[in-house]
Amino acid sequence: MGRLSGPLDPTADAGWTDEHPRRVGFFTDTSICIGCKACEVACKEWNHVPEDGLNWTGQSYDNTGALGASTWRHVAFVEQPRPLGDQVSGVTRADLGMPAVRSAAEVRAASRDGSGQARADAGGAGTAGPGAQVLDGGGLLDLAGGSRGPSAGLAEVPDTHPGSGGVLDMALAGQVPAGEVSAGHVPAGQVSAGVAERPDFRWLMSSDVCKHCTHAACLDVCPTGALFRTEFGTVVVQGDVCNGCGYCVPACPYGVIERREGPKGDAAVGTAQKCTLCYDRLAVDETPACAKACPTQSIQFGPLDELRERAAARVDQLHDAGVPDARLYGESPGDGVGGAGAFFLLLDDPEVYGLPPDPQVCTAELPAMYRSMGLAALGLLAGVVAAFAGRRR
Ligand code: SF4
Ligand code: SF4
Ligand code: SF4
Repeated sequence: MGRLSGPLDPTADAGWTDEHPRRVGFFTDTSICIGCKACEVACKEWNHVPEDGLNWTGQSYDNTGALGASTWRHVAFVEQPRPLGDQVSGVTRADLGMPAVRSAAEVRAASRDGSGQARADAGGAGTAGPGAQVLDGGGLLDLAGGSRGPSAGLAEVPDTHPGSGGVLDMALAGQVPAGEVSAGHVPAGQVSAGVAERPDFRWLMSSDVCKHCTHAACLDVCPTGALFRTEFGTVVVQGDVCNGCGYCVPACPYGVIERREGPKGDAAVGTAQKCTLCYDRLAVDETPACAKACPTQSIQFGPLDELRERAAARVDQLHDAGVPDARLYGESPGDGVGGAGAFFLLLDDPEVYGLPPDPQVCTAELPAMYRSMGLAALGLLAGVVAAFAGRRR
């Protein structure tokens, strides 16, 4: 066990006193992650990590949910109702002519009035209100689009669900000639008329992994030496030395390491598992499998000091480009784990991505606790000695 807190060179501290390679790690730039999960797949392929249950979480396209014994890379999908920086989002504003849902009342008003203008008024010119997305009783399928005939495209849709039903508006607003107002048509310039407003929306995607902490609590508390610091400054668990005590599991401030569950006899069941930063690949000067597979270079591998410089420049670039929320997470040697070997560029608060905002290595307070225990023991001893001395008198 090395020093328990404060910045340092963990490799030298772990006893690699001879010349050793530079400390390496990951800089994950989440602003260019596309959520393809090539990293997850490459990790499983290379390390023979079994599948982790192909479950539909029902919350997003994230099917793994979190890091675990059989998920050493996890791509988080966060859906947010807001734009990314200066980006203009929302289908109606982009004028892609996509279909949208209108209320039956709007379409009935339009067909009574016989004009596209009435449709616009029914929904509020330029913005169909929130009610426009509600499917109310009965329904009309409006397939009118572009210069197709007036109201010819309005057709009743059987109300198969009492109390619901509604209108599918296939009007291609952007294709209507300027000045032409008729049922089923929308005048040019009124792009939103009759088309339900869609909210701003963005995906945040982030490929999470073991942080290979400078002060790694998992390693500090391991009683068997199964967890060790490599010559590259990374943290690796040896399955054949692990006795499955599980002390490392609650010690990790990020919830990364876990014991593998499964039928007895299956590979590594009962032992602690996590990312090894592809120790076997590093040994032969190869890039870790996940970084190699990433098509956008969201996962960047290299010497940690170089990665920190690159990351700082990238944050400046994003700020200049109108993304003021861009920030680094885990890169500071002054943080609660002495700086992570795998750090991130985030576009929102860490909690949004499921990361702790202020992680602390649980062993940081051990020296102070030992000092307090020593003082208490000395006080007790002094009391016992005084009691014996008083008896003799
Ligand atoms: S404490 Fe957690 S995040 Fe840090 S090296 Fe250990 S398992 Fe990885
Ligand atoms: S470094 Fe290797 S073990 Fe770690 S997540 Fe990437 S592929 Fe998996
Ligand atoms: S980090 Fe790279 S490989 Fe992984 S999901 Fe994102 S873009 Fe794909």
